[in-house]
Amino acid sequence: MNLERIKTVAVLGAGTMGNGIAHVFARAGYEVILRDVEQRFLERALETIGKNLDREIKKGKLEEADKGTVSKRLKPVTDMSAIVPADFVVEAVPEKIEIKRAVLTEADAILRPEVILASNTSSISMTTLAAMTKRPDRFVGMHFMNPVPVMVLVEVIRALQTSDATFETTMRLAEKLEKKPVAVNDAPGFVSNRVLMPLINEAAYCVMEGVATIEAVDAVMKTGMNHPMGPLELADFIGLDVCVDIMHVLHEGLGDPKYRACPLLKKYVAAGWLGRKSGRGFYSYG
Ligand code: NAD
Repeated sequence: MNLERIKTVAVLGAGTMGNGIAHVFARAGYEVILRDVEQRFLERALETIGKNLDREIKKGKLEEADKGTVSKRLKPVTDMSAIVPADFVVEAVPEKIEIKRAVLTEADAILRPEVILASNTSSISMTTLAAMTKRPDRFVGMHFMNPVPVMVLVEVIRALQTSDATFETTMRLAEKLEKKPVAVNDAPGFVSNRVLMPLINEAAYCVMEGVATIEAVDAVMKTGMNHPMGPLELADFIGLDVCVDIMHVLHEGLGDPKYRACPLLKKYVAAGWLGRKSGRGFYSYG
C-alpha cells in the first residue's frame, strides 16, 4: 500500500495505547476506525482523547477550532466487519498471544490484500505474529511509547518476513504523525525494552541488596545521568508486573542469566504492589 493511498486507519483495541494511537492518527488528518469489544471501552477512550486534546489546546499545540474536526474523524465500533474500509491497521489489544492471534487472524481475513497490518506489541515476536497471518510480508511492528500523544519515538520493527515496501511505508507514515521512527530488527524487547528493563531491574537489585534507598537510586540517575525520571519512579509508572513480564521475555528469548527478574520486583508484584495503577509500588500514591 502506497503512503499516499492511506486515508483511513483502523486501531484495534481502545485501551491505554489504542486511544493514544487513534488520537495521533486523527490529529494528523486520518479517518480512524477505533475498535474495541464493548461500547463502554470506546466511550472511555473517546473521553480520554477529548481530555488529551484539551491539554494540547492549553499547551498551544492545537487550535481550539480544530478539536471538533479531529474528534469527528474518530469512528468508534465494536463490530470487526466495520474495519473493512481501512487502508492501514494498528493492533493494540492486550499483550496475550492468544488474544493477538484471534484478533489478527480475524482482521487478516477481511482486510484488502494490500493493507498493512501493524502490531504495537511490546514483547511478542513480530516474526511469530506475522506468521499467524496470510500477509506476513505486509506485517510490521509499530511500537509507540506511552503516552502516545506526547512521546515522539516509534520503533518500526521488521519481522523476518516484512517486505522493504511495507517497512518504508510504515517509516514514512510514522513521520506523518510527527513521530521519530527508528528502524529496529525483531529481537526480544526490541531496543527500547532490551536497554530500559535491565536498567530498572538493576535499580531494583540495588534496593534489594541495600546498596542505596529507593530515593537515592532515583536521585543518582536523575541528577547524575540527567534522566527526567528515576528508574524506580519509571517502573511504578510502567507497572511492576509489566516490568517482570518483559524481563521474563528477555530471559527466555536470549537465555542469558543476566536477564533474570529481580526477586524484589517479583515480591512486590506478588503483594499486588504494581506501581501507580495499584496505588503502591516502590513509592506510595495517595
Ligand atoms: P489495555 O489493556 O489498556 O488495552 C487493550 C484494549 O484492547 C482494551 O480496551 C480491551 O478491551 C481491548 N480488547 C481486548 N480484546 C479485543 C479485541 N478482540 N478487539 C479489540 N479490542 C480488544 O492495553 P495497552 O496498555 O493499551 O496495551 C496494548 C498493547 O500495546 C499491548 O500489546 C502492549 O504490550 C502494547 N504497549 C503497551 C504500552 C504501555 O505502556 N501500556 C507501551 C507500548 C506498547
